[in-house]
Amino acid sequence: MSKIVVVGSLNFDTSIHVPHLPAKGETIIASHLSLHHGGKGANQAVAIARLGGQVSFIGAVGNDENGHQLINGLKKAGVDTTGIAIKDNAHTGMAFVCVAHSGENNIIVYPGTNYRITKEDIDRNRPLITDADYCLLQLEIPFEIVRYVIGICHEAKVKVVLNPAPVSADFDDRILAHVDYILPNETELAMMVGESVTMENIGKLASSLLAKGCGHAIVTLGENGSFLVDPVRQEHFPAVKVKAVDTTAAGDSFIGAFTYRLASGDRIDEAIRFATKAAAITVTRHGAQDALPSLEEVKNWLV
Ligand code: ATP
Repeated sequence: MSKIVVVGSLNFDTSIHVPHLPAKGETIIASHLSLHHGGKGANQAVAIARLGGQVSFIGAVGNDENGHQLINGLKKAGVDTTGIAIKDNAHTGMAFVCVAHSGENNIIVYPGTNYRITKEDIDRNRPLITDADYCLLQLEIPFEIVRYVIGICHEAKVKVVLNPAPVSADFDDRILAHVDYILPNETELAMMVGESVTMENIGKLASSLLAKGCGHAIVTLGENGSFLVDPVRQEHFPAVKVKAVDTTAAGDSFIGAFTYRLASGDRIDEAIRFATKAAAITVTRHGAQDALPSLEEVKNWLV
């Protein structure tokens, strides 16, 4: 079986449910609180493991209760966690999500140890990267680390899948020369190219990523599905029509499932169709990692 390595973030998420989002200076009482394991890197690794993929993780947590819980969660899902560094004197990454009863939310992310990953941490785990067939990255860790890992992948001929989320000011599109598959959502694509995305211009905008050296671009469009641009085609893949109850981790589910299927030998269009189905199942369930489907669930799911 092909090996996948994810180099990315782990967060301990606290969701606070409130009648309305607090105004400046206002104190309000929450109706309930829920705790979840998150971080785009960890969610995508769990998505792959739950489908049966062979996946290892490189990242960092603090030497605290949250960090140990996150590692145990990944282990339980079947992810190889030997590449996770435990840092003293720093907190594990956290996300604080405030959800109003109307569904509106605001989110504060404290990156914590996700921003403490160093090149030495990567070097210590180099074999996990060089022995892998695919390396999956997001941008919730320092950009210089993402660039460093992509360089190692290039030398070792490991295929790179990049989810450019979130796009920040230090994003340097020269890395695209060594990215095989890039999967932004439409907001991230707009930020990368400096133009808003419509169904009319999406092909042209995604092609501009290919002009910078990236092999294939797949733009995810929420309930409108996804759009593939590669050297030989431009194709829209509609989403599966479902009653969505919670779209958290839809993107992570799609990207994990896509990478898993590519690593299993699927053609790109087959991998996108499978990922579309996996993500549709995810949005019919509450939660993030809890909502990610198993291989049997995707195979047996009748739309
Ligand atoms: P998130 O940040 O919530 O993880 P994202 O913005 O990264 O999401 P989206 O583009 O919203 O990612 O969704 C990824 C994929 O999930 C879409 O390409 C689509 O296939 C599927 N999807 C998302 N929302 C829906 C929906 N309402 N119904 C069916 N499929 C959906």
